[in-house]
Amino acid sequence: MNQARTTTRLSDSVIRTLGDAIAPRGAGEGRLCIVNYHRILERPDPLLASEPTVETFHWQMELLASCFNVLPLHDALEMLKAERMPPRAVAITFDDGYRSTHDLALPVLQQYQLPATVFVTTGHIDKGSMWNDVILEAARRLPRGELELSDIGFGSYPLHTPQDRQNAVQALTERSKYLPPAGRAQLNHKLETLVGCSLEQELMLTRDMLLALNRAGVEIGGHTITHPILTCVDDATAQAEIAGNKQHLESIIGKPVRLFAYPNGKQGIDFDERHAQMVREAGYSAAFTTAVGPVTRHTGRYTIPRSRPWDNHRMKFAGRLLYWLAGRAA
Ligand SMILES: [Zn+2]
Repeated sequence: MNQARTTTRLSDSVIRTLGDAIAPRGAGEGRLCIVNYHRILERPDPLLASEPTVETFHWQMELLASCFNVLPLHDALEMLKAERMPPRAVAITFDDGYRSTHDLALPVLQQYQLPATVFVTTGHIDKGSMWNDVILEAARRLPRGELELSDIGFGSYPLHTPQDRQNAVQALTERSKYLPPAGRAQLNHKLETLVGCSLEQELMLTRDMLLALNRAGVEIGGHTITHPILTCVDDATAQAEIAGNKQHLESIIGKPVRLFAYPNGKQGIDFDERHAQMVREAGYSAAFTTAVGPVTRHTGRYTIPRSRPWDNHRMKFAGRLLYWLAGRAA
């Protein structure tokens, strides 16, 4: 056996031992950590530095398979309630419904026999790109100089260095995510005019891919129709986004859609109690935020935290998961 493999085996054994040591001993004190991905990339992209490449995703899944107990999300919640949670419990989720969930993540998940859930925005099925990916593509292609968007109320952004382009993507995405779909479409249209062509790519799941994920045992969850920030739309629109998304997904996969993830997911900012109530009334059994922390049987079923360790090093990635599993529950 070569030295690298011996080191990995040793470090895996340390991770498992630590994970068992931090597991709460009392009955009913089980914990779960839910990791949350969006896109998986074929190769590194400086404009998407926080998204893992398939190579990174591969070692992260190998690590989860080797050192943690990866559970189907819906089952894990039932196990918490029934007080029979194993130590080092983790569930894997993907948001938005990117094609990379099917093309790049699924083969790795299958290789390690890992269950997962994907939360899908139905308005993007069979479509090219989400609005934020159009911003990204514009920032990639626009020539050096100043990106002038004052006429549509977005100000201007220097595009001289790679860092400028990253800053522009971040600023424009943050600003536009709180706009209604028409406002995002106006920004995208302006960017496409400036670049001089369509910036749509084939990034989102097709209906057939969604069916293939479902057939492969990936749980399909809801994530609204157009990915609005729910606090930025009126109650009737929010209700239609939540219920219509569920009905559409169920009409495709022919079975109940049980789990929901709030767009952007910050409790009190991106959604509030009204939306949790709407999600419950739509027939969902649980809903997920983007807060950091462990899930316990005391966690509210409609405000369940999820996050992803951002570390690009094996021990740090595992260490952060263990830290979250040991940490204070919300
Ligand atoms: Zn999302």
